[in-house]
Amino acid sequence: MRYRQLGKTGLKVSETGFGTIPILSGNVPVLPDYYSPDTDEAVDIMIHAYNMGCNFYDTAIPEEYGDAEYKLGVFAEKVGRQNIIISDKARFMDGNDMFREVMRSAETLGTYPDIYFVHQVDEKNQEETFSRYGALDALCDLKKAGIIKYTGIATHYYSVAERSAADERVDVIQTSGNILERGILDRISEKNIFRDKGLILNKVYAAGCLLNVFEPSELIGGILHYPFSCALIGIGTKEQADAAMKEEYSPVRFTFDEVMQRLSQHFSPIGCTRCQKCVCPNGYEVHILLRQYNYYHLGKSRWAMKKLRMNIEEVSESCRKCIDRQCMKTCPQNLRIPELIKTIYKMTCV
Ligand code: SF4
Ligand code: SF4
Repeated sequence: MRYRQLGKTGLKVSETGFGTIPILSGNVPVLPDYYSPDTDEAVDIMIHAYNMGCNFYDTAIPEEYGDAEYKLGVFAEKVGRQNIIISDKARFMDGNDMFREVMRSAETLGTYPDIYFVHQVDEKNQEETFSRYGALDALCDLKKAGIIKYTGIATHYYSVAERSAADERVDVIQTSGNILERGILDRISEKNIFRDKGLILNKVYAAGCLLNVFEPSELIGGILHYPFSCALIGIGTKEQADAAMKEEYSPVRFTFDEVMQRLSQHFSPIGCTRCQKCVCPNGYEVHILLRQYNYYHLGKSRWAMKKLRMNIEEVSESCRKCIDRQCMKTCPQNLRIPELIKTIYKMTCV
């Protein structure tokens, strides 16, 4: 296992980390597959990863990750709390709510987490998160009190990641990216403002979708040149831990065209990198719709279709009437977005 510095925290984190969604039990509405191991089995899998050098374990509160937080706490006690780094998160933007959740997490874990993230900060809830007495201020207070060591913002939005990078209160940023959805990573690589922050990467397998076309060695090797600190891999079995952690994979550089070519052997992929440079005056998040299309064809058909049906008809109708087509003017991939939206809408009508 190789290790990287986590920004300016002084922590050295394993290049691949353990994402705990797949070890949760119960019926939590999260995207990746999970295996519902009992606590003993889950702890066994985490020990297996630990023995391969993994020192970074990421979880979230029970509403988001079921009993994964509790299982991680049992594991931490077993291997020695000081030997691992725990990151935890909760989706609360108000400071009082966040304060309460961190204390509740500590109780569930049986220990204090090292890093605590405000989870799923987006363009709508960011003002509250970053405002005075918002969730970020609460994390700063908890850090001053020695309850957590570092503050974090977890987001799927480049604009929020950039704002976090510019904010002295934020120690660590968690965001998503993989060899297909590389747009945020490419933008982060170009900006010095991110250099002092720890960067945790999730969705390396695109919620498992990309494993239908690529090997773990390709998915992990393909992102190693990016300036992240730890790439989280969702792990639910020892075999999955082996695939992510047993070997030190060599970096490989896939061009975006090469990724498209491989996907084209299975379906007609949409070449969206999720860079989020397209802007729609109506506020439609084009990149999410284009992603659902690709995920649909990569095995997440029921989940993607359910999400698409929530607003694709409305978006399609707006795009049909749209004259300015602002979104296309800034798309580096030159995607014909309204036509793609129409294709996706037709797909949902079948
Ligand atoms: S075509 Fe118009 S309405 Fe449709 S996403 Fe682009 S800017 Fe928005
Ligand atoms: S549609 Fe174009 S601009 Fe928008 S996220 Fe995809 S690649 Fe980027």
